[in-house]
Amino acid sequence: MAETETESGLKIVDAFDLEPDLRALLRPGELVEGIGGQYHHLPRYFYEIPSHEAARQIRVTPHFGLNEFLLVDLKEAARIRAFPRYVPCAIRILAFYLERLREATGAPVHLAVNGGYRSPAHKLSVAATPHMWATAADVYKIGTVVLRERASIETYNRLIEDLTDDLYVMPYGHEIGKADDHIHVDLGYVSIVPREISEDRLEGPQPRPRFAYEERRRGDRRGWPREPLPEVLPAAAHGSPSGHDK
Ligand SMILES: [Zn+2]
Repeated sequence: MAETETESGLKIVDAFDLEPDLRALLRPGELVEGIGGQYHHLPRYFYEIPSHEAARQIRVTPHFGLNEFLLVDLKEAARIRAFPRYVPCAIRILAFYLERLREATGAPVHLAVNGGYRSPAHKLSVAATPHMWATAADVYKIGTVVLRERASIETYNRLIEDLTDDLYVMPYGHEIGKADDHIHVDLGYVSIVPREISEDRLEGPQPRPRFAYEERRRGDRRGWPREPLPEVLPAAAHGSPSGHDK
């Protein structure tokens, strides 16, 4: 694991405890209206990323680094682009699904600039988009295929739909709500309450800021054996649902 990830894991913050200028940009818990007229509460719990170096080193999954979800240009507010940076904790779920997509395609999945997390202050955040929850990704290239026309976009859209019903894919097209130069996938408006967080807190700045460190949950962090039981591994590796196929 990355050296910058401390022994106790990534730092989680309650955005209500952040300094006023950041809080005003992230608007934790605030209701925002989506394109279809539905309202959604903005996320409240964020990972704090101390430095550019940390963003570069921290892997969310084997093939996705945290920095890939933070790639923004001047459309994002200056304070949001400055370290320490903050990204909603649901980023882990998005990365999990993108890792499945990478497995299915067998090729690197490339996120566009402004194609990962976008704060509510981002210029493209005109309505509640799952990008503001860190549960959406704009993919502009898979392997060597640049996703710029109908054939490639619809081919991969179909592959993603076959992969899981959890991911929404934006149809190909030029109008609002469609995409013609990338693939947009999202998980909807998912907010995570990390297990280390206690929810018995008021929705407002607290006199004493509080944060938690995400527990390390992976087996190799806990000293579990490197070599799993042989009767478990082959079944898991071949996706046998029963797990006792010998
Ligand atoms: Zn998008």
